[in-house]
Amino acid sequence: MSISENLKKFKAELPEDVMLVAVSKTKPISDLMEAYDAGQRIFGENKIQEMESKWQEMPKDVQWHMIGHVQRNKVKYMAPFVNMVHAVDSLKLLKEINKEAEKNERTIECLLQIKIAEEDSKFGLDEADAAELLSSEEIKKLKNVKIVGLMGMATFTDDEKQVSEEFQKLKKIFDRFKVQPFDCAQGDSFKVLSMGMSGDYRIAIANGSNMVRVGSAIFGERNYQ
Ligand SMILES: *Cc1c(COP(=O)(O)O)cnc(C)c1O
Repeated sequence: MSISENLKKFKAELPEDVMLVAVSKTKPISDLMEAYDAGQRIFGENKIQEMESKWQEMPKDVQWHMIGHVQRNKVKYMAPFVNMVHAVDSLKLLKEINKEAEKNERTIECLLQIKIAEEDSKFGLDEADAAELLSSEEIKKLKNVKIVGLMGMATFTDDEKQVSEEFQKLKKIFDRFKVQPFDCAQGDSFKVLSMGMSGDYRIAIANGSNMVRVGSAIFGERNYQ
């Protein structure tokens, strides 16, 4: 199937309130343009420099989501255009994003990455650390970032029960945070739950995801070389 056919399939399958981030990392502009011409406007990348060069080339109404781990010294390259940063896991990083967003007179939406998988390799905060960050005095001073929700990645396994339990865990944290009186993340502005990839998006949606990050199921397998 072609990229546009894959996208059509996703549009038909995804519930209306679930946003699709088309993960285009490693893929050439021609592939992104095929998705763009099929109506896709939200693209996800995991390397800042690659995202920046694609931003230069793609139409300006594309929304760019940084879904990968972020190195603080590279935030400046994406601050002029990035719409959402999915994997924020420290106050230090948030401060850097805020600083660079301010320089560009922008507000950048951010998600806190919560660690739900078993593997040590996955980045992210636990619930207590995330709650502490959200209720800190320092976060209130950051006027150019907006915490709009949470992101998580399940363990890479065929065990659907485990994946489902991990997503449930994140949904519960999301629901608890939504009703807490955090000054920086209140009510309707705390709305995004980013979970689910090509291999597990159905399980994620069944467990309350409203933003899926899908790459290979749209663009085909990636060739890392
Ligand atoms: C690559 C990536 C995805 C998409 O992965 P696929 O399995 O190709 O859908 C989603 N989220 C993150 C954080 C990624 O790095």
